[in-house]
Amino acid sequence: MEISTLRIPALLLILGLSFSHCKTKSDSDEEMLLLLAVAASKVCANSSFTGTTVVNSTATLDTNTDCITGMTSSMSADLPAWIRNNFKCSVGSVSGSNYVFRAQNIPNNKSFYFGSSSPMYEALAGGQKSAGNNQISSQCLVYTIPSSPSEKLSNKTGTQSGYASVGITVNGLAIFNNAAAPGDTLATEEQTFDKFNGHPQSSGVYHHHSQPLNVSNNNSNLIGMLIDGFAVYGRDCTLNANSGGTTSTPTIAGSQLDANHGHTTTTTHFTTATYHYHYTYDSTATINTLIGSYFHGTPGTVSN
Ligand SMILES: [Zn+2]
Ligand SMILES: [Zn+2]
Repeated sequence: MEISTLRIPALLLILGLSFSHCKTKSDSDEEMLLLLAVAASKVCANSSFTGTTVVNSTATLDTNTDCITGMTSSMSADLPAWIRNNFKCSVGSVSGSNYVFRAQNIPNNKSFYFGSSSPMYEALAGGQKSAGNNQISSQCLVYTIPSSPSEKLSNKTGTQSGYASVGITVNGLAIFNNAAAPGDTLATEEQTFDKFNGHPQSSGVYHHHSQPLNVSNNNSNLIGMLIDGFAVYGRDCTLNANSGGTTSTPTIAGSQLDANHGHTTTTTHFTTATYHYHYTYDSTATINTLIGSYFHGTPGTVSN
């Protein structure tokens, strides 16, 4: 029996999917996206906001913005200072009771996953392995995040509920949950992280499960925000010096945090005690991750 030539690409596509990494979506969502991408190249409704679409072979870093040349990096004046003064490489604005971030999601650090023909390429660190043929590609991520985050004390929403991303880093990149692609563990997948602790999944979405090393390296730096509106910090916690306490930088012990990596204290950016997450050991992932299995608050939405 002959196999139709039309069927061969479809078979290859299915084989390729079985080796894809780190799906925060369900497998069927991911397949549908990939099929759409094959059918027609993705056109971002938000392209006029995020600047020139980045092409890996010509990507360079703009030393003024510290983002890839051509990408728009802007935070509107009505955003609170902790966002306005810290977030870049995306386009942030306020819309009603939400913050909206639009992101091409291209890292402002070198990566193996730009591909060897890119000026932004660098080899993997010793001992690291390539995540197959996955390469960084420009995305059309739109985050709509509640500006007054609400704590959700029961029926918490899982972080593995099919989100395109569960948060955005201060340098405009996707945060992924504490799970790997089915059949894999994050502890294994960690071996495919580049020198900045990121890697792309099968449709080119570069992301961090772990601390983004050009943002935070075992310190109390602000890393980003999850889609429930609560901030994510590095391993340590610095209390606010202007709120009656003394500034300190303790290493947060896991026992000081709830199961979702969070606690309520002041921080450098918040003079009143405010819930926030930390990069810490995760018992599901069995490595340190940025988020646990549940959001503390009610998540907003993400489209891509
Ligand atoms: Zn991943
Ligand atoms: Zn803290």
